[in-house]
Amino acid sequence: MPVSGLPPSPIQATIPLDAEGVRHGFLRLPYSRDDSAWGSVMIPIAVIANGDGPTALLTGGNHGDEYEGPIALFDLARTLRPEDVSGRVIIVPALNYPAFRAGTRTSPIDKGNLNRSFPGHPTGQPTAKIADYVTRSLLPLADVVLDFHSGGRTLDFVPFAAGHILDDKEQEARIFDAVEAFGAPWSVKMLEIDAVGMYDTTAEQLGKVFVTTELGGGGTSRAETVRVARRGVHNLLVHAGILKGEMEQAPTRWLDMPGDECFTFATDDGMIETCIDLGTAVREGDPIARIHPVGATGTPSLTYRAAMDGVLAARHFPGLVKAGDCVAVLATVA
Ligand code: ZN
Repeated sequence: MPVSGLPPSPIQATIPLDAEGVRHGFLRLPYSRDDSAWGSVMIPIAVIANGDGPTALLTGGNHGDEYEGPIALFDLARTLRPEDVSGRVIIVPALNYPAFRAGTRTSPIDKGNLNRSFPGHPTGQPTAKIADYVTRSLLPLADVVLDFHSGGRTLDFVPFAAGHILDDKEQEARIFDAVEAFGAPWSVKMLEIDAVGMYDTTAEQLGKVFVTTELGGGGTSRAETVRVARRGVHNLLVHAGILKGEMEQAPTRWLDMPGDECFTFATDDGMIETCIDLGTAVREGDPIARIHPVGATGTPSLTYRAAMDGVLAARHFPGLVKAGDCVAVLATVA
């Protein structure tokens, strides 16, 4: 949980976050280093505000190798007109900016995985400082939060928006309404392997309506998944009462992740053959992937079978796989 009594954040916004109109600026994170003694990391931010209304906080690039969010959000920052807004939209298209510029999941500066660094710390490494700024300076301003993710270089997902199952059922219902409004082809009541340190967890603990996504992967974007991202952010802003206009109707299918049996992990290195395509239904016991040994001919491959009935929601992306990698994620159609 966010803690009080911490020193102030070293990050400063170069624009006011509470002014009317359109502002483009930076979150300036001081970062002294060999090639720039008094240097900074300049994280782009835009604020579009008009009159009274709720605040949406929209972020992409939490992981640096996921592109649908940054594409949709740089675009929105360019085009959103204040006269179409009631309230405020805060856009940070590439939140872990050093990671985004390097095209890597984690920061090249400190190896920080931003989505495992929350609530962060103002005197920590740069990634921890970004998390702390979001926790203490941005999240308190927000009513609704959208954090874009995709699979990055090592995973590929069916395009979905998601919320988490929470103890607070009233908050959970508001979150699932927002996920439905986003209108991705799939909507997921999501189970996390490892929720400690996630932006999601901190935002949910602060009572926010928090929507996340997984929109594809492989370290790039696709035409369909970018369309889903653009439509989703539009729909979410209309749903929140911030953006004038109509939601673009889009049917969605709900998925549940009932437990650990959703996840399959590799037990050895090799070359992966995914036996079914994303979104395909499987029955318990069906083969979902084979890992072929690559050292010699004549050695048997290892077959991974579905531990439950469901659909393939995610798969390992590159052709080579290592022991411990996530091979597949199954989900059940709700
Ligand atoms: Zn991610």
